Amino acid sequence: MSAVFTVVPSFSPENNSIFYTSSLGNRFYAYIGLETHLQIKSARKIFSSAPVGAEPLIANHCVDFVDMAFPGMLPVLNRSSVEQGIRMGLAIKGTVNAYCVFDRKHYFYPDNPSGYQISQQRYPLVERGEVSIVVDCPCLTPRYEKTVRIHRLHLEQDAGKSLHDSSGESLIDFNRAGVGLMEIVSQCDLSSPEEAAAYVEHIQRIARYTKTSDGDMEKGQMRFDVNISVSPESGVLGTRVEIKNMNSVRFLKAALYYEISRQIQQLEQKTPLVQETRGFDEKAGVTFSMRSKEEAQDYRYFPDPDLPTVCIEKDWVQKIYSSLPELFDARRKRFMQNFQLSEYDSFVLTEISEVADFFEETLNAVPKETLENNKSNLSKVASNWISGPLFSKITHKERIKEEVRFSPSQFAEFILCVTEKIVSTPIAKEIFQEMLDHGLSVKEIMQKKNIDLKGKTQEQLMEVLKEIHAENPHQVQAYLSGKEKLLMFFLGQTMKKLNGRGNPEQLQNLWKDYLQSLGKKEDL
Ligand code: MN
Repeated sequence: MSAVFTVVPSFSPENNSIFYTSSLGNRFYAYIGLETHLQIKSARKIFSSAPVGAEPLIANHCVDFVDMAFPGMLPVLNRSSVEQGIRMGLAIKGTVNAYCVFDRKHYFYPDNPSGYQISQQRYPLVERGEVSIVVDCPCLTPRYEKTVRIHRLHLEQDAGKSLHDSSGESLIDFNRAGVGLMEIVSQCDLSSPEEAAAYVEHIQRIARYTKTSDGDMEKGQMRFDVNISVSPESGVLGTRVEIKNMNSVRFLKAALYYEISRQIQQLEQKTPLVQETRGFDEKAGVTFSMRSKEEAQDYRYFPDPDLPTVCIEKDWVQKIYSSLPELFDARRKRFMQNFQLSEYDSFVLTEISEVADFFEETLNAVPKETLENNKSNLSKVASNWISGPLFSKITHKERIKEEVRFSPSQFAEFILCVTEKIVSTPIAKEIFQEMLDHGLSVKEIMQKKNIDLKGKTQEQLMEVLKEIHAENPHQVQAYLSGKEKLLMFFLGQTMKKLNGRGNPEQLQNLWKDYLQSLGKKEDL
């Protein structure tokens, strides 16, 4: 096919929707939905007692007979995996059904030893939720909020992984076979690649806040299938195309941009679109057809006779509900209110709950009265130092407490030092670097680096001395030839330059040393 003209999203206030303009100037609308698979955070697999291996494994040692589908083996549902599903379901404001059923979904693939996947088809664990996302799209400013409806959340098991090496041999890693997954299916409420990206990142945050999944995309703990249709008419879905198995937000956006553009171009050329499944070629940046509707798989779903219907008691759901932590949305809004932070700063600070904890503990360590009198300034300064220098120093934000060598209360001392202008900005940067490198307190660093409280280092003070020397060469000469009383003159000049904020004793010693060193040079 010919080169694709890339479209960009625009906003129409007329029908409050995002549209795309084709190369011929016609308007099109995109409808995007996602199926997100999240690996359930759990010690054991969902239907076997085998442990869930964390790191790439060299042998199949996290494998039970059930995972290998040995004859006569029976799956046993892991209660904590169901609990995790309920927790996530409640966090996305879904309804937990009174009962759910596990079905067999049949397909044949070497990494699927039983020939079927245990999943949920007709009676899922959770239905009808919604999430509120914040979208940052360069073509559409400012950032805006949007509600995305969730169709359902169901539980299922993961397959193994085929590994193909360069010699043409294939190996199968069964450690992942039988690991519990939550699949979250959204409605087609998303209208742009940026919205899809914001949605995926939001789901990841909720999973991390609730500790139901680590959602590490690089480790394949979070993968998504995306469906997309394009239509010339607002509110009407077009022909649905699915792109399978993505695990990167960057590629998700690239694949969607390509696909929206391709579909629009094809509609304009009056070539009908086919309902199909496509893959994304990461290197070429294009999608390609994998199979059309005619070749679509028939999974022959039926209830798994080895697993009974799961009844979910109300009390259990209630208990899980009351144990939910304050979630991202609530926390972001509370930060805006309580700490008088902007929406953007609150967003950045609350994205990861451990970072939000660190920020909050810092401000709580500031004496109450001081905090109340200067709240917006203190929180803004703390926020800037965290999102700037601190973030650039740490590798894993969720491990902020382990990676940062100073405590929130030591950080609070530093913030006070900055807001009360005890030190200048360059000195503050120097102190902060020391705190990051060695974890000392502000006071310890000031002592160590010989920074006086007026915020000059020894080196900077020396610069001032040299300046005065250059301005008063005759007085220096006179001093060196014996007029020692001139020391007071130099001291006066220095205090003047420092606006009276120097430490006279320190300065006097500094001058003595400096002049003595000049004298020695002259002797030579
Ligand atoms: Mn699935």
